[in-house]
Amino acid sequence: MSKLANETAKAELGRATWKLLHTMTLRYPEKPTQDEREALEAYMYLTSRLYPCGECATEFQALLKKFPPQTASRLSASLWLCSVHNEVNARLGKPMFDCSKLDAEYDCGCGDATTSTAATDGRPK
Ligand code: FAD
Repeated sequence: MSKLANETAKAELGRATWKLLHTMTLRYPEKPTQDEREALEAYMYLTSRLYPCGECATEFQALLKKFPPQTASRLSASLWLCSVHNEVNARLGKPMFDCSKLDAEYDCGCGDATTSTAATDGRPK
């Protein structure tokens, strides 16, 4: 793959990942249980370990050390992720995003039902 194709693929992966992460925090419960808080925190750390772009994974791990995931509420989680994304934007010379516009930007079309809150890690028993 050429350098340009590599950069294009990396950017596409980044856009798709940010979209999923932001949409997830904006659907996260307003009053999460301890189990839900641990699930979101684990998701972020596992993403930083398994993210396919090595340079991005290293960057994300360093950011998580500096700015640990905020999981106390939907608002704190979504604003935390917005500011982490802005840290990446700053490093890459991209414009800052206005975090007061999150709700308008991310609509998953999922209706009112929230995701399952069952205390399980989702693996078959
Ligand atoms: P993106 O940054 O992908 O953003 C997509 C859209 O999200 C924007 O168009 C805007 O509408 C919205 N948006 C922008 N900022 C915010 C925000 N703060 N909050 C909410 N919404 C916002 N690329 C590298 O080259 N080097 C790296 O080290 C690197 N690290 C990354 C780490 C992670 C965890 C992720 C997920 C991606 C990383 N990337 C990295 C990819 C990079 O962040 C971009 O996704 C990619 O360059 C494409 O950029 P873009 O300009 O299309 O917008």
